[in-house]
Formats: sequence, C-alpha cells, structure tokens
Amino acid sequence: MLEETEAQTAPDGLVRVLPEHLANKIAAGEVVQRPASVLKELMENALDAGARQITVVLQKAGSELVQVVDDGCGMGPADAATCFGRHATSKIANADDLERIRTLGFRGEALASIAAVAQVELKSKRRSDAAGTCVRIEGSTFVDQSPCAAPNGTSIAVRNLFFNVPARRNFLKSPATEFKHLIETFQFLALSNPAVGFTLVHDDAEVYRLASSDEGFESALRQRVSQLLGDRDGASLVPVEEATSYLSVRGLVGRPEGARKSRGEQFLFINGRYVKNRSLDHAVAAAFGDLLPKGTYPLFTLFFTLDPRHVDVNVHPTKTEVKFDDERGVYGFVRAIVKKALGDADVIPSLGDGFAGIGRADASPVPDIRPIRFDVSNTPERPDPTVPRAASFHMPEADEAPRRTTPVPSSAEPFAVDPLEESEADTLGLGERPPVWQLHNRYIVTPIRSGLMLLDQRAAHERILYEQALTSLEGGLSLSQQLLFPVTIEFPPADYELILELADDLQKLGFDLTPFSGRTVKVQGVPTGVSRDSVQRLLEDVLDQYKQYRNDLQLSGRDSLAKSVARRSAIASGTSLSEEEARKLIDELFACETPYICPHGRPTMIKVSLDELERRFGKS
Ligand code: ADP
Ligand code: MG
Repeated sequence: MLEETEAQTAPDGLVRVLPEHLANKIAAGEVVQRPASVLKELMENALDAGARQITVVLQKAGSELVQVVDDGCGMGPADAATCFGRHATSKIANADDLERIRTLGFRGEALASIAAVAQVELKSKRRSDAAGTCVRIEGSTFVDQSPCAAPNGTSIAVRNLFFNVPARRNFLKSPATEFKHLIETFQFLALSNPAVGFTLVHDDAEVYRLASSDEGFESALRQRVSQLLGDRDGASLVPVEEATSYLSVRGLVGRPEGARKSRGEQFLFINGRYVKNRSLDHAVAAAFGDLLPKGTYPLFTLFFTLDPRHVDVNVHPTKTEVKFDDERGVYGFVRAIVKKALGDADVIPSLGDGFAGIGRADASPVPDIRPIRFDVSNTPERPDPTVPRAASFHMPEADEAPRRTTPVPSSAEPFAVDPLEESEADTLGLGERPPVWQLHNRYIVTPIRSGLMLLDQRAAHERILYEQALTSLEGGLSLSQQLLFPVTIEFPPADYELILELADDLQKLGFDLTPFSGRTVKVQGVPTGVSRDSVQRLLEDVLDQYKQYRNDLQLSGRDSLAKSVARRSAIASGTSLSEEEARKLIDELFACETPYICPHGRPTMIKVSLDELERRFGKS
C-alpha cells in the first residue's frame, strides 16, 4: 500500500542536466583512454588546421606530457578559449556536415574531454595576428588566458593525464605498452599524410624526423614507409594499385623476407581513416601463400577508397574495427590484387630472391620471359574466335539492334559480373570495327554501344590462356612444337617427383618430356610459342605456382596447372600491343566461356555506361 502511494507520488525534479565538467569527464572516458588517444586527437586537429610540419613531444610515455606543435592556421583569442567547450567545433556548421562525421569523426568533443582529465596549455597564433594567445585549463577548470609570444600555428601541451581520476591513471599500462600505442598512432598518421613533415621526441631524444614529400603518391609513401618502419630500403616495397567501381586500393606491401613476428607493420586505411579488419589482414597474408614464414606478418600500408555506404566505420572516435557489406568480395579482391602485385614484382615465384632456397641450381636472375606469345597467328589450331564457342557468346550482326543495355557496373554491385547477365549485343559492334586504344601499356579501351569498356590486358590474357590450357588438358588439341635441340633440366628431388606426377598433364599442355637420368628430364617439345631458353624457367615456375595453388586453394590438379601456365605465360602489364594484337585479345577474350573474370576471380574488364558518364558529369 505504502509503496503504491509512494510510486504515485514520486518526487519530481530528479532529472538533472549534468554539470558541464561532469559531462566532460564522462565523455572523456570514451574519447581519452590513454596517452595515445590524446596524441591522435591533437595530431588530427593539427592536420585539420593545415599544418605542413608537426612536432610531437612526449615525456614518460605520454603520462607526463603529450604535446603537439603545428604550423597550421592557428586560433584567435576567442576560439582559443571556446575550443575547449563541449561540442565546440569549427568543422560542423549544419546538418549537411553531419555526413562527414561518418567518415572523419568530428564531434567537437576531443579538446573538452582531454581538458577534463588533464592539465592543458594551449598557445596559438594566426598569421594575421601580432601576438599569440595562451590558455590554461585544468580538469575542465579555466585557469587563465593571456597574450603571449608564439610562432604561427598552435601548440597544445597535455600534462599529467588523469591527474584527477586516480583510478584511471593507475589503469595505464606499462610505459612500454603506452609508448607502443603512441608510436602506432604517430605512425598511422604519418603514413597517411606523407606531404606533412613530422618529428617525434620522447624524453628529450629524437625518435623520428620525417621529411615531407611532395612527390607522387607512390614514391612519397615509399619514402615514408622506409623511414618509419624499420631499416627497409624503399625499393623492397611492392606497389599495389587496383580499382573496380566498388573499391579502389593502392599502397605498398613488403616482401616476404622482411615479414615480422608481429602485426606492428600492418596499416589499413579506409577513406583516409586508419582502421582494423582482421579478415583483410588475412587476405593479404593469404596472397603470399607459402612464401611467408609461419608466424610472420607481412608489412603493408594500403589505402582503400570506396563509397562510405559500403563500409560500416564505427563513428566512435576510439574504435577502429570496420565491416564491409561485401566482406567476402573484398577479401577475394584484396587477396587477388596483392598476389598479382607480388607476381608483377616477381616475388611470386621468384627464383632469384630468397625463394630459390628450395635447392635451385640456377638462382641467377632471369629476364622477364613471356613464353607463350600472344600472337595468335602461331596457334592455328585455335578455333576461329569469331565463331561462338559453345552457346556462351553470340556475335551480333552489324545491323542487329541492341536488345537491351548492359547493367552498369555500378558501385552497388561490387565484384560479381555474371556473364549471362551481359547482353551480347552490347559487347562489341565488331562488324563496325570500333577503335581500340592501349592505355599505359596496361589497359585496352574501346567504345561499346552502352558506353566504353576498359580491359585489363594481363587479366584478359590470363583468362584466355587458362581456358586454352584447360581445353588442352581435357584432351583437346595441344599446341606443341618440337625442339631442334632438346633441353635437359635437372630438378631437385621433390620437383622431380612432381614432374613425373604431372607428366601426363604436362604432355597435354604441349610439353614433350622424358626422364633422362638421375633427376634429369629431357625436354623435346614445348607448348607453341615457348622459346628454348625459357623452358626451364617456365617449368620451374609452373611447378612453384602449382604447389602454391594446390596448398592455398585446394584446387584440382588440372585447374592448378592451367592457372599456373596462364599466370606464367600471360603478357605482362606494361607490354606494348599493336592495334591488331589488342583486337585479337578482345576477340579471344569474348570467345572464352567466362570472359568477365580472370582465373583468380578478378574482373578482366570494367564497363562504364553512358548513363554513368552523364551522371559523373552532373547531367542526370
Ligand atoms: P573537432 O576536431 O571535432 O572539431 P576538437 O575538440 O578536436 O573538435 O577541436 C575543437 C576545435 O578547436 C576545432 O574544431 C578547431 O576549430 C579548433 N582547433 C583544435 N586544435 C586546433 C589546431 N591545432 N589548430 C587550429 N585550430 C584547432
Ligand atoms: Mg578534433
């Protein structure tokens, strides 16, 4: 009874607005977890302020001092004080700007939160002002503000973090651990801003001095990575660069021999923001396959750009985990492009550098060989590419009207391009011989009815060779030529066994091999287009690739073999093609069963529709 009455007459006025300093302290619990979170917020503010040079001064792993000095735009006396207010930000003026929070995490909370749990001194001067301003604030309490002498820019010193929250101060980890977090923060911000110079001083000793670089993306990043991450020579870093309409990725990966025992050298950025995603770490490692010693992690610094709608980046300022709406697609893509980058850089499988360890007699560098030449005139047994193979591709008559337009590979449909979805009428008006251009010796560009098509020449050629090899392996015609002077090759024991195991299939591919003596094999015939000099390299590469695919992907033997041959024989990116060669490549590609993806699942082509072009030019 009594309880009921009490409930009915519950006192009013219990809900209060928290005093600001308390609110700040609570917010600080989210934003400021350790010295490294302070460093991140201060460095990001300096970058936002347009700094070209940033100096970080730390003492006692940040527990005594985290100071960031920049030469950015500075603040006038009024802003120097108000910037510590809760929700004080110059970066969001209206609701439209809120969208940017999703990507960059502006919340106007950082300085207020930091000042709630530390002793902060800010000095700032704008270029246009004669004098600077100094503001001091401790545990959200304003101490004083006065004019001062200061260089252009801003310096914020954060002392004795958690001085007023003993429980949290005691919660800080060992100086070594806190320092590790500070370094990680400094590193990811330095990596994503190579045009800015950075210096880091800890306990009066200079740890890093990184010159700014205004060179192109790749060389600037190379320089920065090699200065930041150990004693590496920039040349040992392999560039990665690929784009689809869903995702573009660029950056650098380290060679396997430089891989470390921890993940400390793995940096992933999405739309400029440092993030973590275990599955992508794994995708990169998987691309190395066997080359990576067990328990080691390769260096990488990769920048992803994609429509923010496809990625769930937690707005929370201290959380870095992300998820993609197409995790599996992104995983496959990343693994494939890193693998390709390693292959292009001759890391996979490279006989000369480190990988030769499996008992190779000849570890001398071999020039880039492309054994099966691209010229189809020497492959007369190939079916006429203008005759449709199976029922998969129907070449339109010149006057045949397009039946429907091809769906645009819009950003909403990431990787899957289903060949059956494509309208054959759209692929090429071959009767009209549309112009064909080669772009940067890597891509082939041609207009199509619905817009334009970009072909990755290497991926396309791999697809063609892969299907040819599969046909040969399945008992189709093999394209073999006898060698005038047979080649004898000695293999290490394991490889020799493998050669014997694969002998039948190798023969179907066009190799004519006989065991000779010991572990020596005599090669009397090779697939058409393979030169005598390149036989050994090709066989060794095919074996290496085969082993790798078999372990990695658990593919059937034939599939592995076909992929290996295609991979090692396809024309490289960077090979100049004549117009006729480019045309033949297109024709042959469209004669394939699955023209739209390479054997590793990457797209061989990208189509851009007129609609999309119109949209990009703001016309619809
Ligand atoms: P946010 O960065 O989300 O806007 P902060 O609390 O980090 O919120 O900073 C508040 C404001 O203080 C910023 O919007 C900016 O106007 C100003 N500010 C902070 N640091 C600097 C700096 N180093 N140089 C110039 N202005 C700064
Ligand atoms: Mg900020």
